[in-house]
Amino acid sequence: MRIAVVGAGIIGASTAWSLARRGAKVTLIERKQPMEETSRASSKLLHGGLRYLETFQIRLVHKALQARSQWLRQAPHLCSPLELLLPLYQGQMRPTWLVGAGIKLYDLLASGSGFPKASWLTPKQVLMRQPALTQRNLLGAYSFYDAQMDDYALGKWVIERFQGDGGQLVTGHTITDFDELEQFDRIVNAAGPWAMDLRSTHGTRPPYSLDWVRGSHIVLARPCPTALFLQVPHEKRIIFVLPYKGETLVGTTEIRQDNPSNPGASPEEISYLLKIFNHYIEPSASITEITKTYSGIRPLIRSANNPSNNTREWAFERIGNVLHIYGGKWTTAQIQGEEAAMRILK
Ligand SMILES: Cc1cc2nc3c(=O)[nH]c(=O)nc-3n(C[C@H](O)[C@H](O)[C@H](O)COP(=O)(O)OP(=O)(O)OC[C@H]3O[C@@H](n4cnc5c(N)ncnc54)[C@H](O)[C@@H]3O)c2cc1C
Repeated sequence: MRIAVVGAGIIGASTAWSLARRGAKVTLIERKQPMEETSRASSKLLHGGLRYLETFQIRLVHKALQARSQWLRQAPHLCSPLELLLPLYQGQMRPTWLVGAGIKLYDLLASGSGFPKASWLTPKQVLMRQPALTQRNLLGAYSFYDAQMDDYALGKWVIERFQGDGGQLVTGHTITDFDELEQFDRIVNAAGPWAMDLRSTHGTRPPYSLDWVRGSHIVLARPCPTALFLQVPHEKRIIFVLPYKGETLVGTTEIRQDNPSNPGASPEEISYLLKIFNHYIEPSASITEITKTYSGIRPLIRSANNPSNNTREWAFERIGNVLHIYGGKWTTAQIQGEEAAMRILK
């Protein structure tokens, strides 16, 4: 069977690889180069998503916790386990018992994945691991594990595996209409944030709508001894402070947009991230310490008024010989790709 997959982000690449492994003759078509859009603008975490437990996405968290182990087994040179500290302070929005219950559930859902279990650290133990963390009102911290990756390199590795299994990659070609793919038996729309542009060529109303939620990061010119999972003061959000290539990666934001184009990190997002970082870290950072900023557009399935609470699950829609893919996460891309492959081969 000849199959065209449109979009060489991690979702399209994983789908194409899964199809090639099953013996299909697959062409992966990308308008730019692979991994140039959302898939290289992530927080670089292969994670279950502790915060998604709060919105009861328990099935997704379970799948993602198991999926991170698969990446580590397959490409240990491009990802590794990462210890994160979740510090708790007096007067924070979430009660300590709730955070503790979430951590316990996270451990339970990760059972059998080979990752160390979470533990509680006293303020003294926290400061030994992360001396820059502010000590005022610090109660202690949970230490828990996820994994960190080089999203660009790991995505390119998936493309190489796909090509190694006989797949063909076409770059620099934009698909504007499915008619130009009539030589293929089946087509997969994995255009991520741009999936709805292609879907609109059917002229009917889609069953899902995408919520385009921009996320930005800043990189600071200082090392980060231990990764942090920080509660944003007076908000239900969290941000990550992560070691990355000798510097400190801080992110992310969640800004709803009415279209999928990526304008980059705004001055407001940059000062928002710096403000939260400086709330927790001493000495504080100023704008001059920023070495890089980047943004990506999440193609989330719209399911909540607050963009933070949108589901991170994915969905499919089959119209004739075309399968449209909506939503998803980096960590679970291979599971999503397997499901997409099974559906399009039916
Ligand atoms: C700020 C941020 C942080 C994140 N952090 C994490 C994280 O730490 N861990 C995690 O698991 N997930 C994370 N995610 C989610 C994850 O990055 C995305 O779910 C995933 O990368 C989406 O991949 P995709 O392939 O759907 O989209 P993309 O990577 O955007 O790929 C779509 C591709 O389709 C191409 N394309 C579009 N239209 C056409 C066309 N007409 N013809 C040809 N090609 C076309 C585009 O050029 C693009 O390359 C994060 C997302 C963001 C934005």
